[in-house]
Amino acid sequence: MSQPSLMFGRKYQQGVNVLTTVVMTAFHVGAVAALFFIDAGAILSAVVLYAVAGMLGIGMGYHRLLTHRSYRTHPWVEYFLTICGTLALEGGPIFWVATHRIHHQKSDREGDPHTPREGTYWAHMGWIIKGQGLHHNPDALARYVPDLARDRFHVLLTRWHWVPQVVVGLALLAFGGVAYVLWGIAFRTTFGLHCTWLVNSATHLWGRRRFATRDDSTNNWWVAMLSFGEGWHNNHHAHPTSARHGLVWYEFDLNWIGIQTLRRLGLAWDIKVARIAQAVPYEENDRLEVDEAVA
Ligand SMILES: [Zn+2]
Ligand SMILES: [Zn+2]
Repeated sequence: MSQPSLMFGRKYQQGVNVLTTVVMTAFHVGAVAALFFIDAGAILSAVVLYAVAGMLGIGMGYHRLLTHRSYRTHPWVEYFLTICGTLALEGGPIFWVATHRIHHQKSDREGDPHTPREGTYWAHMGWIIKGQGLHHNPDALARYVPDLARDRFHVLLTRWHWVPQVVVGLALLAFGGVAYVLWGIAFRTTFGLHCTWLVNSATHLWGRRRFATRDDSTNNWWVAMLSFGEGWHNNHHAHPTSARHGLVWYEFDLNWIGIQTLRRLGLAWDIKVARIAQAVPYEENDRLEVDEAVA
């Protein structure tokens, strides 16, 4: 195969990835077990870590900063957000960013790592547990992420992406015991994984399309609620570099509020924003005026 990107897509991913399947099964079993250890403190730790991993880590870090460079920040902020991202158990930054850049390049066409056109279940989690999934050859991925592959921190963190999760797990064990680990690690991670996977499955299947993009992406309010604003996915496919995904007031976008907060603290600048000149009904989306601006 001359083009590594073509190794993505369902027909190239044969067989079950044993390690990933064992880990995913263990986390799902742990998530169910958590329901038998109801403890207010443990549940609070899960809520806090869900926001740290899903919002600071995946939404503001892995996705809007590392993948699309929709704003700039200090290296130490970038590294901090990236460490938060590893807590989602979605692989290290080089793997995640490469996979997602390929998704944008090939959206819902041959070579898309996770399009529902190859099956709803496949797009949701099948692509994780089948074939090379999370363990794709780093050299093949590096050509999609030359910026991160040059950075020793990102290379090391990609290799050791599970370490921060283990450290947090041990801290929870020491602080609150087994209930804290079941809620703060197993339940929180499993719930967060499904929320992210819904962006790959549900928001390429169900919802409304503000922009007539070439892919099947949709805006889906309930996925947006679960994923801190990542569910405004049609807006995002139409304007991938915009740091803001919810483009009108009723498209609630917590990750955008987070990035604005960084800006107010002097920690984010050169923020790219897609602005809608005037919000019109979805049915009239071809009349929509949008301009890219830098805040
Ligand atoms: Zn997409
Ligand atoms: Zn994206």
